[in-house]
Amino acid sequence: MNTQNAGGDIPSNQKPAFSVTAGTSLSNNLNGLDVIYYTKTLWPRAVAFLKEIVEINSYTLHANGVRENAKRISHQFASFGFQEHTIPSSLADSGDHLILDSGGEGKSILLISHLDTVYPPSEQLLGYSVWDETKSRIVGPGTYDIKGGTVAIWLLMESLRQFEPELFASFRWIVAWNAAEERLNKDFSGIVNEMLSTPPVACLVFEGDNQRSEGFEIITSRSGMAIYQISVRGRSTHSGNGHAHGVNAILKLSELVCDVASLTNYTRNTTLNVGVITGGDSTNRVPDFAEARLEVRYRDPTHYAEVKAALMALCDAGDLEALLPGSRCEVVVKLLAEIPLWPEEEGGSELAKFWLAAGEFCGQKLTASCRSGLSDANYFASTMRTLDGLGPRGGNPHSVIKTPTTVKITEFVDQSSFAVKNQINTLAVIELMKTALRVDKNA
Ligand SMILES: [Zn+2]
Repeated sequence: MNTQNAGGDIPSNQKPAFSVTAGTSLSNNLNGLDVIYYTKTLWPRAVAFLKEIVEINSYTLHANGVRENAKRISHQFASFGFQEHTIPSSLADSGDHLILDSGGEGKSILLISHLDTVYPPSEQLLGYSVWDETKSRIVGPGTYDIKGGTVAIWLLMESLRQFEPELFASFRWIVAWNAAEERLNKDFSGIVNEMLSTPPVACLVFEGDNQRSEGFEIITSRSGMAIYQISVRGRSTHSGNGHAHGVNAILKLSELVCDVASLTNYTRNTTLNVGVITGGDSTNRVPDFAEARLEVRYRDPTHYAEVKAALMALCDAGDLEALLPGSRCEVVVKLLAEIPLWPEEEGGSELAKFWLAAGEFCGQKLTASCRSGLSDANYFASTMRTLDGLGPRGGNPHSVIKTPTTVKITEFVDQSSFAVKNQINTLAVIELMKTALRVDKNA
């Protein structure tokens, strides 16, 4: 092990104790450096855990790999004695969600990660060769999205139990892993929600931190997304003899793709991306069918409503006719999925305040930001206070470089970020718990 990188460097500019809010602190005399030192003692187990789960292929459609990953994770958390639930995902070919629940009557906190990755077994086999923790960047499938986040949850739980054992025991902890997050499975949040009789103090999602080399990030909102399909029916004829009688569905769809692209509006944070297109089967036929699938990402629901209306209006745009009378194309637009926007809280995220204060206390630059990418936070945020991006720093999620002869997975996690991010998470969660109890006492 490269001890220089083991979990991160020790910051020097810290005050002796941490508290977000003025008033009666219950027992907060924790020195932030204690958490750093403690994380370093946990690091050999943490990095061994990370290596093992990265080496298990848990591609979202490789159900047995997803289950194997769940088993290894469950083993890592065994000492907490939480009750384990494995619940099949509603999507065919997915694995089972894993939920660990401490139970109890106390206030609850949800910690969220996922079991699946985007790398099929063949890609992992070709694109990932060797585990290397001698450098700060550990490269490998799912290191950043989201197996490093799973390790960060374990570090946080161990730290909370170590430094605030009674407070820790007084809360109900639900740690839950989605089996099919990469397929935007929406049954998961419903299943977790059903386990709770009252809203939790917080839903904390451990997707990775995007800051590159210095500073840290948390996420307080995410774009909404919708997926549409545009199908064009034309008239198939011989491309030579019958050309003038044919209606070319590809031609019409090409026009529509340009119309769709023109709806992108960066100023209003709305983007449209036609990502899949199919049509026709040979060059000697006028194609009678073509189809495109596209996604819309947005932050402004009013603008999204306008875009949605414009897309649905394309249904009437079957104006392409055969040169010789008798046929005209038909356009059908179908909404395939809508994933809710996680909007910015007015006046700023209440939860983020705990992390921003903890970051400042730890002498770290911590930024609260909005992301266009989606996560389970999009679903949870509609019913509970949610914060995301609590995993370690890293980059290149889902990324592979392919040449005709090579495949290389480039996703990485910055191992020097684990200890400091855990320091921030631990201090913020302790203060969050104490504040929740204080609010109760004063009510
Ligand atoms: Zn993820």
